[in-house]
Amino acid sequence: MSSNESLFTAAQQHIPGGVNSPVRAFRSVGGSPVFVKKAAGAYFWDENDKRYIDYVGSWGPMILGHAHPAVIEAVRAAALNGLSYGAPTVAETHMADKICEIMPSIEMVRLTSSGTEATMSAIRLARGFTGRDRIVKFEGNYHGHSDSLLVKAGSGALTFGVPSSPGVPKALAELTITLEYNNIEQVRETFAEMGDDIAAIIVEPVAGNMNCIPPVPGFLEGLRAVCDEYGTVLIFDEVMTGFRVALGGVQSKYNITPDLTTLGKIIGGGMPVGAFGGKREIMSHISPLGPVYQAGTLSGNPVAMAAGLVTLELLQEAGFHERLTAKTTMLCEGLNKAAAAASVPVITQQAGGMFGLFFTQEKSVTSFAAATRCDTDAFNRFFHGMLDAGVYFAPSAYEAGFVSQAHTEADIEETIHQAERVLRAL
Ligand code: PMP
Repeated sequence: MSSNESLFTAAQQHIPGGVNSPVRAFRSVGGSPVFVKKAAGAYFWDENDKRYIDYVGSWGPMILGHAHPAVIEAVRAAALNGLSYGAPTVAETHMADKICEIMPSIEMVRLTSSGTEATMSAIRLARGFTGRDRIVKFEGNYHGHSDSLLVKAGSGALTFGVPSSPGVPKALAELTITLEYNNIEQVRETFAEMGDDIAAIIVEPVAGNMNCIPPVPGFLEGLRAVCDEYGTVLIFDEVMTGFRVALGGVQSKYNITPDLTTLGKIIGGGMPVGAFGGKREIMSHISPLGPVYQAGTLSGNPVAMAAGLVTLELLQEAGFHERLTAKTTMLCEGLNKAAAAASVPVITQQAGGMFGLFFTQEKSVTSFAAATRCDTDAFNRFFHGMLDAGVYFAPSAYEAGFVSQAHTEADIEETIHQAERVLRAL
């Protein structure tokens, strides 16, 4: 057995930062990441066999809990028939049919191997379809790491974007306009100035990459109206929210029909996957039907399809999302009470089976600016206290948390009990 510290040291020898995705490295909370050995249900265990109640769930996919027997069995059965063919399978048709059934705004869908590919391809499609180059995104929203989407706001409103990473060409970043989330006025002003040049608005319809921030009333409706007026493609990035906030995603909960939707996470049941889909008129522009190129060696991978299909079928069981939402509410209310009992200013926000925990004096958090005003030092101390107690929250104050079907009331009570103890000690 080795400590997480020594495993982390070893990992850093040949892996940049010791991780294959940055937020895993515990940079913002400090300390060594937990090296996971195995997982089942609501828990995972580290290499020292310490158990954690997991509220990350692989950042969203594990909505049924880890190693769900039906999913593992489907993966096993699929794997026995070979891992990849690079030729069509019936499973891909079933997956496409299932996605279109659950999300009626999607008339055609293309599968990818990650959410990043899905959003990158949706942006290219929107540009190819409209013949326009500019896109609009929102501060604090994350859509994967393709060049056009790794862009932050320039200084002041209505300025063009600047790269948020070296390596993103400035000339490309200038085509991405980054506006304030939940500020529909700013969207309208921007479109009044250059709406005819804007190919797409891409938005996390409930933001989950700056903690958990639902849309304010009128925001999503306003985006729909602006896109209709200017012939701009409205892309809902439901990679995180799809099948989690509600079975049909945020679009079903708020009754708004985007032109394109991007998906990932849950549709792979824990295997690498992504998808983008929407109106037939737009999707018909994708190769080989149309001229907009997009492809993938492992796209529609048979093992991923098997895991995803079983997952989606189980989510369709009556009352699944009501139960998940009720459990998440129980957690949020319990954390609120624990914070009040410990006299620590904390609020929670929730959308279906995802939640956020904010160390703030404010009553609600609706913007990136407000999210970044939270007390990250307090969060970091809370995070480590909970980690010691065997509760694994996302290792950053800016990430949403995820509840699964496998979390029991006893798990949630244990979490709340530990939270009160840790908050009192802050
Ligand atoms: N969009 C959203 C809303 C996401 O949360 C993420 C990943 N967390 C992505 C896109 C990118 O997905 P992936 O990490 O699979 O590339």
